[in-house]
Amino acid sequence: MAASVELRTCETPGCDGKAKLQCPTCIKLGITGSFFCSQECFKGIWGQHKKVHKKANSEVNGLTQNYNPWPGFRFTGKLRPYPVTPKRSLPDTILRPDHADHPEGVPMSERQMRGTTSIKVLNDEEIEGMRIACRLGREVLDVAARAIGIGVTTEEIDRQVHEACVDRDCYPSPLNYYQFPKSCCTSVNEVICHGIPDKRPLVDGDIVNVDISVYHKGFHGDLNETFFVGNVDEESKKLVQTTYECLMLAINEVKPGVRYRELGNVIQKHAHANGFSVVRSYCGHGINSLFHTAPSIPHYAKNKAIGIMKPGHTFTIEPMISQGTFRDEIWPDNWTAVTQDGKRSAQFEHTLLVTEEGCDIISKRLENDGQPHFMDPK
Ligand SMILES: [Zn+2]
Ligand SMILES: [Zn+2]
Repeated sequence: MAASVELRTCETPGCDGKAKLQCPTCIKLGITGSFFCSQECFKGIWGQHKKVHKKANSEVNGLTQNYNPWPGFRFTGKLRPYPVTPKRSLPDTILRPDHADHPEGVPMSERQMRGTTSIKVLNDEEIEGMRIACRLGREVLDVAARAIGIGVTTEEIDRQVHEACVDRDCYPSPLNYYQFPKSCCTSVNEVICHGIPDKRPLVDGDIVNVDISVYHKGFHGDLNETFFVGNVDEESKKLVQTTYECLMLAINEVKPGVRYRELGNVIQKHAHANGFSVVRSYCGHGINSLFHTAPSIPHYAKNKAIGIMKPGHTFTIEPMISQGTFRDEIWPDNWTAVTQDGKRSAQFEHTLLVTEEGCDIISKRLENDGQPHFMDPK
């Protein structure tokens, strides 16, 4: 790449300097060209150059304005689907989970365990495998966090996530899972979860959840965070803050002997105290060599979850908290879960390991990640 850059000249009229820099916004928006010799030249022409970004954004919007894959479908909110690019491929060297190559994306190993409520206790070697998978998942989420910004498409976030997985010898677990078409989930505004990355550019004031799951050397790691795009209204900030607190309050309860059904009580109490509701259709889950397995962990109060925490259990907590109704519905793509009233919903997720003393957040943030996103305990 550097070689072709060397051959270019600066795009500032009258400057024939060798171009070494490319406009970062143009790279994000997929605009080719935009080479400059120096920061000075780039700054000098900025007032004129930024119109290129605006034009590109309006062209995207124009192209997709009439995109309506489901005529007659009544949307609950303002969000609309945009075109989805084809599924990405991976090098053969990366170990794949069984759903990757099943024609309907069925995880056969998970299917065999369906109905069992017994929870796997991982040995030391398996625990180490989980720690590594979750750490790599965290690195990938940090890549996504850095990519987020006004005008960036969720498709571009997915592209960077996919590349980051490949760089780390990971298979992106969502890819082809029951035929999910992309490498991560991006859930914007009223989307509760399982949003499909597409050509929609993020807009100032959006909230977007990025859910990362990776499969590395036989183990899955799973985590997500909700991010702000530009200036977000106060009620959305409160929603995102409260959702994060719900997750951390639940994590505080985790230790050997506690019933999995207790977690929903803590989460719902805090959500309701802040005037929000708890989504009931999607649950936390056991995770290890299987992506989703026992236990199933509802986030609402008075649930009937089966199981008691024991050292060596690995599972997720991933509350979805909504501004209005807890009720959800699914778009005709069979994935995108939205609130029935079109109000916003937020989510945070960690993968946890039950220890003798309590628990380890094995998807926790890394030291010195320099990220402006939500703070976890280090
Ligand atoms: Zn997840
Ligand atoms: Zn999960």
